[in-house]
Amino acid sequence: MEISSQEKSFSYRPVIPVVNLEDREGSFQEVELGMPVNSAIQEAKRCLRCDICISCGQCVEVCRDQMGVDAIHLSYVDRNSTSETDFHRPSKYCIGCGSCVINCPTTAITMQDKDGIRTLRMCGAEMARHQLVTCTSCGSFFVTEKQMEFVEKHIAGKNKIKYSGNLCSVCARKNAAENLIGDFFVF
Ligand code: SF4
Ligand code: SF4
Repeated sequence: MEISSQEKSFSYRPVIPVVNLEDREGSFQEVELGMPVNSAIQEAKRCLRCDICISCGQCVEVCRDQMGVDAIHLSYVDRNSTSETDFHRPSKYCIGCGSCVINCPTTAITMQDKDGIRTLRMCGAEMARHQLVTCTSCGSFFVTEKQMEFVEKHIAGKNKIKYSGNLCSVCARKNAAENLIGDFFVF
């Protein structure tokens, strides 16, 4: 079941219809009438799949301390809820680097690259969706636009690092090796 972060963060418990007080007085009918199908689907969408996420906090640490993004907070969704994941925050701040996916011990977070879009999901709920950048040399998708902007911002002004444009890691290495060989033969 795919659910957007918005929907996951702001969904509320559906109200179960009940028999009114007057009708209860003269019958043994069960008071709760059961959920209509739509409400049952709505209720299922609120499930946090705590059987998958063990709240170890590794995704929070890697995103905050190693990547310096701080997109995931295991915090309360709202004041009436005991659920621990704020799905709204990653959808806003995530850069789509995939570090949380690699470090999650239970595969609660997943990442899918399809048709130029990278989608990250936590326990089935969509955390973030990103446009991928194409390598100008080989044409493969290799990084998200947001991650590219993040890296550009962080290496700006650092003279020792040469930014190689929109090249994937394989083409960037090939490019660097060809330049090195070129320099060698000039001598
Ligand atoms: S999503 Fe994974 S890494 Fe994050 S708290 Fe849950 S189990 Fe741990
Ligand atoms: S993919 Fe997003 S949420 Fe995960 S570590 Fe990177 S920035 Fe943080």
